[in-house]
Amino acid sequence: MNSDIEIALQSSMSPIKNIAERLNLSENDWEPYGHYKAKLSSLIVSNMNDKPDGKIILITSINPTPAGEGKSTVTVGLGQALCQLNQKAIIALREPSLGPTMGIKGGACGGGYSQVLPMQDINLHFTGDLHAITSANNALSAFIDNHIHQGNELHIDPRRIGWKRVMDLNDRALREVIVGLGGPVKGVPREDSFTITVASEIMAILCLASDLEDLKKRLAEIIIGYTYDKQPVTVRQLGFEGALTLLLHQAIKPNLVQTIENTPAIIHGGPFANIAHGCNSLMATKTAAKLGDYVVTEAGFGADLGAEKFLNIKARAGNFQPDAVVIVATIRALKMHGGVDKKNLSEENVAALKRGVDNLKKHMETIEQFNLPFVIAINQFPTDTHHEINFLKEWCVKQGAEVSLVEVFTKGGAGGLDLAKKVMSCCEVDQGSMRYTYDLDDPVEEKIHKIATKVYGAGHVEFTSAAKKQLKQIKDYGHNHLPICMAKSQYSLSDDPALLGRPNGFTVTVRELRVSAGAGFIVALTGEVMTMPGLPKKPAALNMDVQENGTITGLF
Ligand code: ADP
Repeated sequence: MNSDIEIALQSSMSPIKNIAERLNLSENDWEPYGHYKAKLSSLIVSNMNDKPDGKIILITSINPTPAGEGKSTVTVGLGQALCQLNQKAIIALREPSLGPTMGIKGGACGGGYSQVLPMQDINLHFTGDLHAITSANNALSAFIDNHIHQGNELHIDPRRIGWKRVMDLNDRALREVIVGLGGPVKGVPREDSFTITVASEIMAILCLASDLEDLKKRLAEIIIGYTYDKQPVTVRQLGFEGALTLLLHQAIKPNLVQTIENTPAIIHGGPFANIAHGCNSLMATKTAAKLGDYVVTEAGFGADLGAEKFLNIKARAGNFQPDAVVIVATIRALKMHGGVDKKNLSEENVAALKRGVDNLKKHMETIEQFNLPFVIAINQFPTDTHHEINFLKEWCVKQGAEVSLVEVFTKGGAGGLDLAKKVMSCCEVDQGSMRYTYDLDDPVEEKIHKIATKVYGAGHVEFTSAAKKQLKQIKDYGHNHLPICMAKSQYSLSDDPALLGRPNGFTVTVRELRVSAGAGFIVALTGEVMTMPGLPKKPAALNMDVQENGTITGLF
């Protein structure tokens, strides 16, 4: 089979005007960015207030292997399958980050015959949203350092500045830096650090803002650090919320593209699910719900991370609930959870699969806790054997779960028709209201405890002494009511990436709590998780190239 980029380049795209017309958009609703991309107006949702929302289908997965389990691929494939069944379906995805693109994954536009296009643009600089977010973030850093250099009227303590610089790459050398060296004309020296753009609070704000006004209000509420008297300092006090909003006024508009089968797709916002909240923008999801009868959307990594935050943070903020959930599982990842080494995943091993299904079982229980109906999608890989597939299907049926073998990678929408039909029936079930994992009124410790025990299966939560001090500060400054954005390894249900399968009774260690007052959540950093990832020994970038005639290779 051809590579993802080869398939993408051989596909014929429809001019974006045709996709916009298919969605009945008027000329004021969209503006072209070249032939195959467009920005959508941020007013579509308010202008279509009277139209009922389409059904929302959330795609999540088991704990993944380093290469991903095909959530984006299944999201795109399911959207295409629904269209093949003559449904008005629309896909809502996150924008890829150059960190994983250059590092491990080589792209995040789906794969095979279930991709969003033009994948070479979307995977690289797209419509510039990540650039705008990076610029707004770093402009704020420059404004803070300048404020201190110019006399520090607000008495900002340079040792207590929580606002970090960002870039959209994996660069471990920038995890700890010192800025302002070189004498009085170069500024005031202080320790700083870089985070990857997708973990910037500005990314989260863009993804949770309901409109431009809300964006500005949230930017103003960002706490950049503390004074010498330990009082919080906000962007509003510095006076730069207007400039930051200006830097983001195009980026806040959702992007419209299409899939290989010309299904409309909105791609907007891209926080990671391990170190941020992991969902595309609320505005994109809400716009898609106005434009389509079915919205297929995805939250990053496993249900312990992306789905938990999609439901407890994003859906709560947007006052909606998904109508159905799809849990993507692959036989290769389940074998890994059953103890098989990465290099032996191509060999048949039903015994390991039998052990590994415990991981899937935990995620099924988690979605049940939220009181949401689900279908399991087995994303078929070429190395899966009949014995393995039959075992997994029978196991799912024994658990009383709906299951579908999905071949959207090799067949496009046609490989997901069974899944589409099962998801449509699932959407018809009236399940009643979704149940959150915690109440916003719960104390912060209890919220974290509930996530760790109910969603991860932990026995205890330990707070380091630094985190305990921060808990007290959070109460003192009145931020107790905020939801929690857990930062945790994606590979394990626990905070230890080596604990695969379904570990039980383990301890989760919270080492730091950061208030993201603009985004409206508290980030709880667990284990060793880093907000600036590093590159692997052989980065995916080693395979990338572009020829003189413009042919691109290596974007997977
Ligand atoms: P996720 O969204 O879970 O991170 P992706 O959809 O991005 O996963 O897929 C990860 C990688 O696996 C991509 O390179 C994709 O092309 C590849 N992939 C996905 N599904 C299949 C499949 N069924 N067979 C082979 N490769 C696949």
